[in-house]
Amino acid sequence: MSLIQNCYVLSAILFIIGIKSLSSPETAKRGMRLAAVGMLIAIIGTLFNPHIVTYKWIIAGLVTGTVLSLPISLWVPMTHIPQRIALSHAGGAFAGCLIGIAEYYRYHLSLPSLNAGIIGIEVMLAALTFTGSLMVAAKLHGLLPGRPMIYKGQNSVNMVVFILMVVLLIYLILNPTLTILFYFLLSLAFLFGVFLVTPIGAADMPVVIALFNSYGGLTSAVMGFMLANRIQIITGALDGASGFILSMLMCKAMNRSVTNVLFGAFGKTQVTSSKPSSPSLHDKPVKTMMIEEALALFAQAKSVIIVPGYGMAVSQAHHALREFADKLKNKHISVKYAIHPVAGRMPGHMNVLLAEANVPYTDLFDMDDINPEFAHTDIALVVGANDVTNPAARQAKSSPIYGMPILNVDKAKKVIVCKRSLNPGFSGIENELYVQEQTFLLFGDAKESLTQLVYGFKNSW
Ligand code: NDP
Repeated sequence: MSLIQNCYVLSAILFIIGIKSLSSPETAKRGMRLAAVGMLIAIIGTLFNPHIVTYKWIIAGLVTGTVLSLPISLWVPMTHIPQRIALSHAGGAFAGCLIGIAEYYRYHLSLPSLNAGIIGIEVMLAALTFTGSLMVAAKLHGLLPGRPMIYKGQNSVNMVVFILMVVLLIYLILNPTLTILFYFLLSLAFLFGVFLVTPIGAADMPVVIALFNSYGGLTSAVMGFMLANRIQIITGALDGASGFILSMLMCKAMNRSVTNVLFGAFGKTQVTSSKPSSPSLHDKPVKTMMIEEALALFAQAKSVIIVPGYGMAVSQAHHALREFADKLKNKHISVKYAIHPVAGRMPGHMNVLLAEANVPYTDLFDMDDINPEFAHTDIALVVGANDVTNPAARQAKSSPIYGMPILNVDKAKKVIVCKRSLNPGFSGIENELYVQEQTFLLFGDAKESLTQLVYGFKNSW
């Protein structure tokens, strides 16, 4: 086997072990490093390809890529990671698009039908992933309105564009030399990416990102066939399959179908902040509490389960939360973190933030493992989580979150909720948990409340 093939086999093994390692927070960092080494080996191997004419442009590309990506990876905050990922997908897809165009431009006069079909599919997927991912990034970053942009007959228009692309692809296979077909297909695919994302709200973008991840992987696999490059077929297939599985898992955890995400225009897209002017829900009073009262409750507790959510990420409260949890542990209070699969706005959002704050992995518990424990727990401390604690998911058939598995916070002996107001979460619905007998609302920014709890703890205990 040649040096290049050896490099490719080694990098494929590293990619597979890397992806496998991502399934646990304990091994995820190592998995990322292994995959990065795998990519480096694949790149080095490719540099030995005898067909390389000049290294000038390769070096220019390497320098540009490094100069652009280094500051992004160093300075983009955790709350902006979804749009950063979308931008990476756009970059990869654009590269795939350019390669497809170059291949067609060079060989179209002698291209067999099969190869024309492969290049056609490749540029189609790459072009729609490119514009679609740019739209996702713009919506998430607030450069475009985050709300679903809908007009009458939108689904029909999208369907017509899609059918037109398929027809053009078939014509291209039958007439590989007809360049107009190729460039028309390419233009429509760019347009389709925009049309596809327009009706989807910003809050659903993580599922769309995972879907585009899958399309990007497919592009890469098809490109591998086009260039007869085995490592690209392997990485593309891995990427495509893992992106697809991730989208399915996220939809399952939200109890929604992919069709509903793509065409359902579900959910509130921007959580507005307001003061708790009238602390009531459905005209039922809610109980509020002050920092000192919360501290008094904690002083009597033996066990606490912390439930982090999107609000913890927004307020960057994870470090203060860990500090408070450490104080409780020092007083021999059992502390566990309950992690809902879709808490936050991207898969693993809570795990990543809590790892950043050095919360031990052994303190994190998946929903199914922790749910039976709530009933025996003295205090459930909810930090910026809302939908993932809403009991309506169990009983209210008309609720948009009906059927979504939730954390059994309402079963805990006492519940303390840190949030700024009675505003709903992502789904836009009210939470019955807040009017239950044992629930107390500690209004305020989560980071401020937790910092005050830590401070009060030092002074009063
Ligand atoms: P939610 O969006 O339901 O609620 C977040 C809560 O945080 C709000 O009620 C808000 O209340 C509060 N909050 C916001 N800012 C602050 C702050 N600075 N300090 C304190 N509280 C704050 O979050 P959950 O994590 O419970 O649920 C996630 C939702 O996102 C689910 O509906 C899920 O389906 C959805 N989703 C998740 C995805 C994923 O992959 N994780 C992907 C797509 C959707 P207030 O404004 O009153 O402070």
